[in-house]
Amino acid sequence: MKVLVINSGSSSLKYQLYDMEDESVMAKGRVERIGMESSILSHEVENKPEIREVSEILDHTTAVRKVLDMLTHRDFGVLGSIREIQAVGHRVVHGGESFGESALVTQEVKLEIRRLFDLAPLHNPAHMTGITAVEANLPDVPQAVVFDTAFHQSMPPTSYLYAIPTVLYRKHKIRRYGFHGTSVDYVVRGAAELLGRPLADLKLVVCHIGNGASCTAVLHGKSYDTSMGMTPLEGLMMGTRSGDLDPAVVPFTINKEDLTLNEVNSMLNKHSGLLAVSGVSSDMREVVQAMNEGNESARLAFEMYAYRIRKYIGAYAAAMNGLDAVVFTAGVGENSDVLRKRVCEGLSFFGLALDEQRNAERSGEPRKITTDDSKVAALVVPTNEELLIARDTYRLVRQS
Ligand code: ADP
Repeated sequence: MKVLVINSGSSSLKYQLYDMEDESVMAKGRVERIGMESSILSHEVENKPEIREVSEILDHTTAVRKVLDMLTHRDFGVLGSIREIQAVGHRVVHGGESFGESALVTQEVKLEIRRLFDLAPLHNPAHMTGITAVEANLPDVPQAVVFDTAFHQSMPPTSYLYAIPTVLYRKHKIRRYGFHGTSVDYVVRGAAELLGRPLADLKLVVCHIGNGASCTAVLHGKSYDTSMGMTPLEGLMMGTRSGDLDPAVVPFTINKEDLTLNEVNSMLNKHSGLLAVSGVSSDMREVVQAMNEGNESARLAFEMYAYRIRKYIGAYAAAMNGLDAVVFTAGVGENSDVLRKRVCEGLSFFGLALDEQRNAERSGEPRKITTDDSKVAALVVPTNEELLIARDTYRLVRQS
């Protein structure tokens, strides 16, 4: 079965076409600047040069049509006909409390995703546009939705409730939801395989450290607690997001700086984190380079970033009353040995012994980076959210 995976944003649409026979990626690409002048479609097939096409793509329906045209193109395509696409899977950021797992798209499911627009105003409407655009182009093809929040629906109320008047939870569903769930779900399976133990026996902390970053306590295969909250702003320090801070900072800043609520919101989401503290960049590579060149603000940003990850690992080890492994994934987690080293150095007290050589090795494969006699393991497991979306879509469509 060929499954098309789509991640639809407000002005972009990323895609990957999977052959589920061997889970290979037949083609992938993205459309950018949808609805703007000079939209760009980039399309990639393995062992072939990337194609870039600039044209006017005014809406998502046209974007999907262009993608289908590319997939069946005489020279650049990989399909004889679009009829070969038997299912489409969509990434959806927010599933609220309604979705504890992936689902086939039905009228009811679409209605529910619409009801959740309030909780993810930047993301869910864009995903919905993607679903509708596929319907318009491939009316008979079943679609599935895979939610970033679903994996965390197993959290107990002690983890997901905020200590604010409960009426706010009852009326508006204000609570911790957590994100990166698809990624965490994917990497914990890889971690169990690497450790050679059933997932149901394990206590893991997954550090998904990319532009956005989160830690998740995974107890016996299920999310027990996670650092992101009602929105992805809470928790770790990130590329441009502040992470945890005293909520009183918000009214105080509004008063002192004469800012509006929206301006403070934008400051915390887009102008904080690594970028603000380092004054250099939101990109860990550039921060580390500046630090190595003697930039003290970059060093401080790096130290704060690592320290906060270590604090969460410690907190979650206590929350689960134990820890078998820390799992690093995503852009920074997979690639920055310097950051992993700094995080792990402070964890030697509970028996995590980093193997510096293993940590420094560059490989795209899942691997252990602690010594063989380390009591707590540290692992690097590359994430692959698209593959998990393709697998869930394949499973749901076959079962239907
Ligand atoms: P997103 O949250 O956007 O999905 P990714 O998981 O792709 O992000 O991570 C992107 C980030 O990964 C980049 O901003 C960059 O800081 C970081 N990154 C990528 N390669 C390296 C590297 N070799 N060393 C340090 N950081 C890296």
